[in-house]
Amino acid sequence: MYKMGKSEIDAVASVLESQELFRYSPEAKQVDLFERELAAKFDCGSTLATSSGTGALICALAALGIGPGDEVIMPAYAYAADVIAILAVGGTPVVCDINESTGMDSKSAEQMISDRTKAIMPVHMCGLPSDMDAICAIAAANELHVVEDACQAIGGTFKGRKLGTIGDIGAFSFNQAKIITAGEGGAVLSSDRDLIDRAFVMHDATALYDGREFNLPIFSGLQFRMVEMTGAIMRVQLGRLDEILEGLASTYSSVRGVLSALPGVEIAPSNDPSGECHTNIPLYIEDEGLRRRVCDQINLIDGMWAYQGIALGHSYFEWEFLHSGRGAHDDRRNPLRDAPPHQAQLSKSRDILERTVFVGLPLELSPSALDFLGELAASL
Ligand SMILES: *Cc1c(COP(=O)(O)O)cnc(C)c1O
Repeated sequence: MYKMGKSEIDAVASVLESQELFRYSPEAKQVDLFERELAAKFDCGSTLATSSGTGALICALAALGIGPGDEVIMPAYAYAADVIAILAVGGTPVVCDINESTGMDSKSAEQMISDRTKAIMPVHMCGLPSDMDAICAIAAANELHVVEDACQAIGGTFKGRKLGTIGDIGAFSFNQAKIITAGEGGAVLSSDRDLIDRAFVMHDATALYDGREFNLPIFSGLQFRMVEMTGAIMRVQLGRLDEILEGLASTYSSVRGVLSALPGVEIAPSNDPSGECHTNIPLYIEDEGLRRRVCDQINLIDGMWAYQGIALGHSYFEWEFLHSGRGAHDDRRNPLRDAPPHQAQLSKSRDILERTVFVGLPLELSPSALDFLGELAASL
């Protein structure tokens, strides 16, 4: 969470006072308004609010018709939720390498295409845009869908286009760790109304019985509805997005100078420096001892944190359920039952992630914290 205050408290209080907590209550309008405001801010035709980012990804994949036997290519640096969402719709995750930017390596993604591939899923980790030109070109040449996981990158851009709206369909998360948050929440975005309608059914196939009319035949989906309190908080948070991104950009510019001056430390190359969300600075540090010292020292600074690339469930090497083929609660629904999915060798990804330290940035860094950072950097 970067910023939350009285406006969110008031927004929740007024929902509670109205006693209309459910999005289909007769007078309820927070979730509907949030969807409209999100669509307007992101210049995309339609959006669907969900109860989580994982739910948003599941609805996006279902909307595209991805199911058993279909492969979805995703990068080795992502979140376990990406693997989980693909498996949840019965699809098979195929993991490709990342490149030095820590985003999907489009050439590796291309090499992983088989006659079963249905979609490519770039993941804009740590607010860093993936190389969408190369990824979309490969997808177009092979008639594949692009599902953009922008859960960590709301408000970021690639060559001026908003992350989450470049592919066929995109997903945001509003969990506590994300740029704007209500503790939990998510959204699906697409300019294709039919995709959002299908995502809607996946997010709540019982809506029909709550009086909602559908133009399309419903199928048995799941339940990822957003609650009115979340909608109310998210409307305020959406209004804070630009201010949060400006604060992060200013922290970034003061910290970047100090870190980039350190001998033995390089800042990872960016696919689009002007499109980053500045939640993190990815550092490439060859020397293992220096890497540890940088992590330890930065973690002493109030408001800043540092972690290795292979941590927090963010890398292929940690997704134990994938390695052991446990792709569902019941083996009869397990897409990994018969064979482990094919995947890139991933030694390149391991090499890059082992040498990468992500430095998390706060909205504001006090002058004393910045001095402290300077002193720590000098002592390295
Ligand atoms: C947070 C996150 C998700 C899942 O979001 P939840 O809201 O926690 O379900 C998916 N992908 C990435 C990259 C994330 O960071």
